[in-house]
Amino acid sequence: MRLVLFGPPGAGKGTQAQRLVEKFGIPQISTGEILRKAKADGTPMGTEAARYMSTGDLVPDEVVVGIVEERIQEDDAQKGYILDGYPRTLPQAEALDAMLERRGESLDAVVSIEVPTEALVERLSGRRSCPSCQAGYHMEFDPPEEADICDKCGAALIQREDDKPDAIRHRMTTFHDQTAPLMAYYQERGLLRPGDGEGSMDEVFGRITASLEDL
Ligand code: AMP
Repeated sequence: MRLVLFGPPGAGKGTQAQRLVEKFGIPQISTGEILRKAKADGTPMGTEAARYMSTGDLVPDEVVVGIVEERIQEDDAQKGYILDGYPRTLPQAEALDAMLERRGESLDAVVSIEVPTEALVERLSGRRSCPSCQAGYHMEFDPPEEADICDKCGAALIQREDDKPDAIRHRMTTFHDQTAPLMAYYQERGLLRPGDGEGSMDEVFGRITASLEDL
């Protein structure tokens, strides 16, 4: 099964993608995660991408298209995958179609997780993560036992540079201007499955899996 998880920053794509990984046994391909790892590893691509990411700008299409092209050729992606955070522009969506066509494949569905903007800002600004074991927290909805310390490994939690207020605003505008138009693109192709992204993680997951039942 080849899925795209679509939605604004803070909609919960990453969390839902991880649950889908468990349910369907196919990998999550998150361009944001791949870029953050490249940055942490200090590769030239990661250092270049970090300039865009810190302000909430999109990394150039050629860079992310190349990342996805390489990643979907790996062994674990041959039975399918969940694209999380890709595509985010029309050229990326077209590049994905071309890549799939060359491989004689197609997408099964584009799941859109819809959440009102005010709720997104609240979700993003409270997010914290552990730089050591990657555990995720939310200061309001899922706080660590001791303020700013990871429950699992004791490291000091950090806030992503792009979860700070100015970058959040910029990411919302970027989503609205460059990414939201893809909904029409996938709607026209009969692939879009819109879903309500409000409520608990379990409720959202239940709606997503129900919307995929026919696949
Ligand atoms: P995410 O973790 O998906 O919110 O992505 C974090 C940041 O990585 C984004 O704000 C962008 O700067 C960059 N990024 C991730 N995926 C893409 C993409 N498909 N196209 C361009 N930039 C991306």
